[in-house]
Amino acid sequence: MMRLQNYIGGELVAPRGGRTLDNIEPATGEVYGSIPDSDAADVADAVAAAKAAYPGWSRMPASERSALMLRVAEIIDARCDELARAESKDNGKPVALARAVDIPRAAANFRFFATAILHVSSESHSTDTRAINITMRQPFGVAGLISPWNLPLYLFTWKIAPALAAGNTAVAKPSELTPATAFLLAEICREAGLPPGVLNIVHGLGAKAGAAIVEHPDVTAISFTGGTQTGAAIARTAAPMFKKLSLELGGKNPNIVFADADLDEALRTSKRAAFSNQGQICLCGSRLFVERAVYDEFVERFVAATRQIVIGDPQDERTEHGALVSAAHRDKVCGYIDLARQEGGTLRCGGQRPKGLPERVAGGYFVEPTVLTDLDVQCRVNQEEIFGPVVTITPFDDERQVIAHANSVPYGLAASVWTRDISRAHRVARDLQSGTVWVNCWMLRDLRVPFGGVKQSGVGREGGLEALRFFTEPKNVCIATPEL
Ligand code: NDP
Repeated sequence: MMRLQNYIGGELVAPRGGRTLDNIEPATGEVYGSIPDSDAADVADAVAAAKAAYPGWSRMPASERSALMLRVAEIIDARCDELARAESKDNGKPVALARAVDIPRAAANFRFFATAILHVSSESHSTDTRAINITMRQPFGVAGLISPWNLPLYLFTWKIAPALAAGNTAVAKPSELTPATAFLLAEICREAGLPPGVLNIVHGLGAKAGAAIVEHPDVTAISFTGGTQTGAAIARTAAPMFKKLSLELGGKNPNIVFADADLDEALRTSKRAAFSNQGQICLCGSRLFVERAVYDEFVERFVAATRQIVIGDPQDERTEHGALVSAAHRDKVCGYIDLARQEGGTLRCGGQRPKGLPERVAGGYFVEPTVLTDLDVQCRVNQEEIFGPVVTITPFDDERQVIAHANSVPYGLAASVWTRDISRAHRVARDLQSGTVWVNCWMLRDLRVPFGGVKQSGVGREGGLEALRFFTEPKNVCIATPEL
């Protein structure tokens, strides 16, 4: 049994209340460890440790902070296989995916911000001959960081790295469904020599430990990634306390294929966009729109390709499609597949629990990759975030119509457009209500670019300089320059 602990003030500690939660392996449905069921007292300890560490960390030369963070990145790389296995076991995702994407990206997050902080410059404005304004950006103290279960270490470090690089200290909470890599990160930070209290990790339930972080008066800013409803609840608490807020929320992303696109590439990548990580990525293209001239061919080939996806034990290197994260989430996804039938949809493939799974994972939370057609653009299955291996395909006749379809949901996180017509690509990208538009690609990420959504997909942007801006406050020093 793996017994995880909190990481507070540089130590691995049990929760004060002594309560624990079961950690379940989604591929088997069996308990394989326990995690702290932390509460407000544990969060208070973590915030106190972060406050105590802040003066030393914020005044440490950027080059020294950078060196410590680069050491963390090195150890993540060195322990990549162990981390990938832990993440696969915790989350149900294929180990090959965790090894190729999640863990290298966690190291890259540390490396990116550790080096970015060495290259920031401050601004100055001269006010005629009367004054010089120097605008410094300063860290603010303790940051509260809350992340979801779908890309556990990837998204956790996407918040931790810029917060620490900017000179803040942090109290961070991973999802209680996927705590293992966060626990290993604590070990890695100790090994790297990160000063005690700079990063504190509190495990537990969102409504208890997460809410306590948001409510704590000494936590100055909250960076949250998760569901839209949770984001709204956090905003209700944080806004009257005047906390800085960054909210990265849900998505229902359109993936638009015009008839002139490179169909082979559009098919290959659209399959990945629909089903990577069992469709549990906020950026997944879950609404496919295909121009009518190629619709029938596309649907036929897409369904055939979907049937080829290898479903199996996530710990098996050959597996492409693993388990969903929990029984509750599996039931939610299956509920939407049932709803699609009621809403008049045609099930083209999937929709079932896969047959012939290996014995070890016979009790796991699996759902086949599922393709649905003939659904109205306004129906619930096409409007609500499902966050599972379910994609709908809808034909369209022209640019204006597909832009209206794409923009008809309350979300606006990401979109893809497939066409060889550069003018059309520009026009459509301009008119899509979306934080990111990919043209002839999907999930091609440059860590320097701003990342985030519009509408109910959130407020604020992460990534690159935007993140360093979020984790610092501008201070203007105006120096008068009187004439002699
Ligand atoms: P949740 O909103 O349920 O949870 C996210 C995190 O918030 C978890 O750590 C959770 O803890 C915690 N939490 C829950 N309630 C509270 C609360 N009242 N106060 C403070 N913290 C709380 O999201 P999921 O974990 O289910 O993640 C899936 C969602 O995340 C999807 O909607 C997806 O679109 C979105 N997402 C958005 C991304 C983006 O960049 N825009 C990227 C990835 C995912 P606990 O797990 O214990 O409940």
